[in-house]
Amino acid sequence: MFYDLHSHSLASDGTLAPGELVRRARAAGVDVLALTDHDEMAGVTEAAEAATALGLTLVPGVEVSVTWNRMTIHIVGLHVDPNNTALQAGLGRLRKFRDWRAREIGRRLAKVGIEGAYEAAAERAKGRVVSRTHFAQFLAGEGHAKSVRDVFKHFLKRNRPGHVPGEWATFEEAVGWIRAAGGQAVIAHPARYDMTMTRLRKLVGEFMEAGGVGIEVVSASHSRDDCFKIAQLARHNGLLASAGSDYHGPEHPWVELGRLAPLPDGCNPIWGSWDTELKRAACDIDRRGHG
Ligand code: AMP
Ligand code: MN
Ligand code: MN
Ligand code: MN
Repeated sequence: MFYDLHSHSLASDGTLAPGELVRRARAAGVDVLALTDHDEMAGVTEAAEAATALGLTLVPGVEVSVTWNRMTIHIVGLHVDPNNTALQAGLGRLRKFRDWRAREIGRRLAKVGIEGAYEAAAERAKGRVVSRTHFAQFLAGEGHAKSVRDVFKHFLKRNRPGHVPGEWATFEEAVGWIRAAGGQAVIAHPARYDMTMTRLRKLVGEFMEAGGVGIEVVSASHSRDDCFKIAQLARHNGLLASAGSDYHGPEHPWVELGRLAPLPDGCNPIWGSWDTELKRAACDIDRRGHG
């Protein structure tokens, strides 16, 4: 079985519709795919329907934005019930903050002479979650930087003109919502936060205290070295190991579906206990989707 437990669709900053994403994943040999859009689960019903038709197992998921010690940390929720009211209310609050932040990014960019960025980003988001990715695509397209990555570096990161400090969820909130919705909370792409191991251990401690159970050991944004380091961290702390591509669409060809390395030896895979749970979650969504 091939698991990819982190991916994005048009419901957030991915470029494929949820159904297209599932078809592409199936074609790439993925058996179990988690759709984990940023602070949003609007794509799950369509993805689950496509998955049923193709014989792929869709794990309903979400990637929750968290602020921890003034840093943004991403927590993936797996097997979360999209209809849970606590989760819905929490994600709704984050999307409201997102919308304010997007307008504020627009105002700040206007001060350095870039007009209309909010409108352009919102248009790219097509009425869905507005992400910094949408700003980056616009700014790169207008020639303000060479690439999306460069836009982040010169405009959107801390101490840059378009940076707006975050006020996302706390660990307690994010993990609490995920658990209330019957899910498992997983630290996303831990090696991407540029933290020392000491700090990362502190983060893991507070995350587990809040009820978090997993960590992404294999991620497209991890080097082989990162992967082994995080595997060791997971083992030492008794965290379950997850694996996800963080796929955002074919425009980002350096990340593909179905190409993840296997978990290093000694990891305890998060899907180890899933079988019956998976089927139940899939049936629930199917029932809801068909009234
Ligand atoms: P947001 O949640 O709106 O702050 O946007 C975060 C998203 O921006 C991430 O999920 C990535 O998809 C993208 N992103 C963040 N940093 C970079 C970077 N340095 N280069 C390219 N994309 C990035
Ligand atoms: Mn993203
Ligand atoms: Mn992320
Ligand atoms: Mn992601």
